[in-house]
Amino acid sequence: MKKLNVGILGATGVVGQNYIKLLKDHPWFQIVDVAASPRSADKTYKEAVKQKWQISFSIPKDIRELIVRDVQDFDSLKNEVDFVFSAITLPDKEDIKKLEFKYAEKGIPVISNNSAHRWTPDVPMIIGEINHEHINVIPIQQKRRGFNTGFVVVKPNCSLQSYLTPIYALEKAGYKISNLIITTLQAVSGAGYPGVSSMDIVDNIVPFISGEEEKTEREPLKILGTLGEDGIINDDSIKISATCTRVPVIDGHTASVNMKFQEKIPKIEEIISIWKNFKSIPQELDLPFAPTHPIIYLNNIDRPQPKKDRDSDKGMAVTVGRLREDNIFDYKFVSLSHNTVRGAAGGAILNAELLVAKGFIK
Ligand code: NAP
Repeated sequence: MKKLNVGILGATGVVGQNYIKLLKDHPWFQIVDVAASPRSADKTYKEAVKQKWQISFSIPKDIRELIVRDVQDFDSLKNEVDFVFSAITLPDKEDIKKLEFKYAEKGIPVISNNSAHRWTPDVPMIIGEINHEHINVIPIQQKRRGFNTGFVVVKPNCSLQSYLTPIYALEKAGYKISNLIITTLQAVSGAGYPGVSSMDIVDNIVPFISGEEEKTEREPLKILGTLGEDGIINDDSIKISATCTRVPVIDGHTASVNMKFQEKIPKIEEIISIWKNFKSIPQELDLPFAPTHPIIYLNNIDRPQPKKDRDSDKGMAVTVGRLREDNIFDYKFVSLSHNTVRGAAGGAILNAELLVAKGFIK
């Protein structure tokens, strides 16, 4: 198969660097375009990331000398790109919305990590194992906005997949959940580069991340929602209360979750069995980035731990442990996922593979 040509918007940031690493030797995709802010534009990629390269991986030869393009400069998009991954940060979310739609207008599919379009009803917010069928909202988006081959698809907040995939697996098995209390312990790489200052995070926990609790409480409702005539209709039946904290961990977002079921309550052994056996469309389609087991349950009493478990199945699997009864709700557990892989670049690559397999990216 001829590889598809891919562009990375925000290629110089923390998530952008992860795309450079994860797409090396990808069987379907090759990077031909890297774009960032005017600060990086016209430099070689190697020069642009000289002071901010964060991962223990050498920049591949074919990427090092690529000239970074200003994301707003469409004239310099010389190499034909089949689609782009968006990992840019702009001060105003409205500017990101406009920019991503501008790429779509030009016929280029956009798979975004940014939160700007997560609440646009005709933009699907995809976790491949959960709401893959939401990609069928794309023709509605294209028709309404006059896009031809272009469209925008987003992925959710980086901490969400660690607990939402286990929750979804239980709902799919017939155990509807009514209430969740979620406390996240989020890694510093989640704040991008340079992120939180070392004086603020070393020897410390910061009990506030701007906008994060709202995302944790609202995004699951869209992901678990249904496809309507004009877009996605939220599932408002789950009530979520979240506290989000920043902790001195480099990579890997952990969540402590208390859950209450609507009616039927499964036994502990059944929950573990549902999680261990859970598989979905990415596994059935054998997509290159699909983890073999999307949920890995760890029996050790002191797991999951970011340092030991974040890289499970190339950083694409969610690890869960400490399932036990709760004195107020029904059960509680701890879950973990790699925020810059499963929660960002890797999750978006899996979405792109799904869109190729389903014929939305040609
Ligand atoms: P980051 O390290 O701060 O990188 C930001 C990127 O945006 C850089 O490439 C930067 O280019 C570019 N940029 C900044 N200002 C710009 C401007 N005015 N015009 C054009 N480009 C500009 O952030 P990140 O952590 O990679 O996050 C990128 C996006 O992914 C954000 O929307 C974030 O919310 C989301 N996300 C992050 C994570 C995570 O774990 N980090 C997880 C999920 C989603 P320069 O280098 O030229 O400044």
